[in-house]
Amino acid sequence: DAGPSVLAVTGLTASYGASEVLRGIDIAVSQGELVAVLGANGAGKSTLMRALAGLHRPVGGSVSFAGQEVGQLPANRIARLGLVLVPEGRQVFPELTVEQNIRLGAYGRPSADLTGDIEKLMDRFPRLRERRTQRAGLLSGGEQQMLAIARGLVANPEVLLLDEPSLGLAPALIQDLYATLGALRDDGTTILLVDQMAEMALSIADRAYVLSSGAIVAGGTPAEVRQSGVLHDSYLGGG
Ligand code: ATP
Repeated sequence: DAGPSVLAVTGLTASYGASEVLRGIDIAVSQGELVAVLGANGAGKSTLMRALAGLHRPVGGSVSFAGQEVGQLPANRIARLGLVLVPEGRQVFPELTVEQNIRLGAYGRPSADLTGDIEKLMDRFPRLRERRTQRAGLLSGGEQQMLAIARGLVANPEVLLLDEPSLGLAPALIQDLYATLGALRDDGTTILLVDQMAEMALSIADRAYVLSSGAIVAGGTPAEVRQSGVLHDSYLGGG
């Protein structure tokens, strides 16, 4: 067992109008873990991430974060508490420079405090250091994803939420990206990510869950999830 949970989701339900999209989700993440939620298109992955970040109001259930109920808090409060979302599709500001994009993630931290942290991020993401003063719109898709992650990290998250970081990236770049995520975890960053690249995510995750039609249908170590046989049924396995 991985110790006490920093994030515990219990019975979480969410809907769009009359259609229930999350049907009683139970997920736990312990400090220092990298936990993957695997799911096909439309399984509810983005809705789950948005609900945890306060961007989609849950209908029911509980989100306990660092010992506090956050399920009904507004998104800015949740982010300031340290539950920080890197949204699907990267969403960098193309006209701003790489460094300006990173600074936007700092959520009101005094800029004097940031300098050392930004240097550490530049060590972690050497491609971003090379392109520090370039407009973000000129970066490749893989670099923009790294930038979006750096922007999340500069907030000093207790838990980093990643919505489908591999989306739209070539296989070699997905491999680089996942190697970076594994290194971040090895440095102590707690990560909860959703992705459809099941094998790639399982290759670095400490634990994983499988989300299918809004319900968790398997969970455990990567080996347990592979053995459960649900990956094939859920149209997962690629990557
Ligand atoms: P994808 O990989 O396509 O992003 P996902 O696993 O992230 O899929 P969600 O985006 O959470 O899935 O969507 C779950 C379900 O909710 C889908 O059936 C989707 O059509 C539906 N849905 C998503 N957003 C809305 C919305 N704004 N209004 C109505 N239905 C929505």
